[in-house]
Amino acid sequence: MSIYLDYQSAKSVDPRVIQAMQPYFCKRFGNPSSLHTTGDDATEALENARVVIADFIGAQAKEIIFTSGATEANNLAIIGYAMRNRRKGNHIVISEIEHISIHNISKFLEKNGFVVSKVPVNQYGEVDVQKINDRITKDTILVSVGWANNEIGTIQQMTDIATLCREKGIVLHSDAVAAEGLLQLDVGKNLVDMLTLSSNDIYGPSGVGILYLRKGTRVNPIIIGGGQEYGLRSGTENVPGIMGMAKAAEIMKIEMTAEAKRLLNYRDRLIKEILTNIPKSYLNGHPSRRLPNNAHFRFSGIEGESLLLSLKDEGIDVSTGSACSSKTLEPSHTLIATGLLHEEAHGSLQITCGRFTTEKDLDTFLNVIAGAVNKLRKLSPLYKEE
Ligand code: PMP
Repeated sequence: MSIYLDYQSAKSVDPRVIQAMQPYFCKRFGNPSSLHTTGDDATEALENARVVIADFIGAQAKEIIFTSGATEANNLAIIGYAMRNRRKGNHIVISEIEHISIHNISKFLEKNGFVVSKVPVNQYGEVDVQKINDRITKDTILVSVGWANNEIGTIQQMTDIATLCREKGIVLHSDAVAAEGLLQLDVGKNLVDMLTLSSNDIYGPSGVGILYLRKGTRVNPIIIGGGQEYGLRSGTENVPGIMGMAKAAEIMKIEMTAEAKRLLNYRDRLIKEILTNIPKSYLNGHPSRRLPNNAHFRFSGIEGESLLLSLKDEGIDVSTGSACSSKTLEPSHTLIATGLLHEEAHGSLQITCGRFTTEKDLDTFLNVIAGAVNKLRKLSPLYKEE
């Protein structure tokens, strides 16, 4: 088994979640749309799950729409809102460091008559609220800013962004996938109108997610069919998966504070030891306003991908950025947006810890990383020792 330090890409499902899902495969397998007893049982389970997940983010049960994951929730939020409200305006504002799903949704909307403005970020990956304000026009109907960045871990000023959107009467969507389970997400306090969550990011099964849709926020469905999920997301609900997500949210609600504290210690140890022990190593993202599980570095003179492969040979799994964009040779759009040069972006490595990371995993990683960087630098024509 590898030492796994890539929790941002995927998380193992918590065994307690698997246990909670088990009855819904064979015994309680009903379709919530069926009118018989087995169907009623599935409906009851589904509606209980909706209450638990709503409670996790301070929402009402009726404001939760189950989807097949975060990508679909982002599509429903942005395309659904844009299509429903295009008579009010055709302008949307996103940040330059949104997840690739949001960038590609924006391209789709641009081909369909919408105008999308991308707000730049500073060197730490922070979106300046004033810069959002500068881009708002009379045609702006929607702003979408991720709660925290899934690569460099920078946390945005969501309360300030939400306050601005409220003042301007513009709906705010946030993809909170990277932040969930690590930060308190309260849609009552932070006045976000639409929020994307995925199940796997809180140790539930993949292929399930939700869109929180504040009461009164109207979207068009993007999947048409039998009218499930208040007519907003047709298709038979994935009851076992949804039960898994609910259990994952229930556990996370209880354990998050302690878990985030433990992860923060790991993160700070990684940052301190790497920056101290490896010359010409730098931290990407904000030094303190960053997710407690995220450490993201660049090492001059070498490629992140070569380092990833060297670590793979040592039995350690890390990443060079978003798994969703790993099949392209392009440098990370997030790192470039923070002002890094292509070679700096290519020289970056992302380490994310999680529920099952141990101090021993970090010991092993920290024992290996300096040697791996050194070895690659010796082979690198780009690296110059001072
Ligand atoms: N948003 C963010 C911030 C992500 O990191 C991801 C990938 N985990 C997604 C959206 C897409 O999630 P999914 O692949 O589950 O649809």
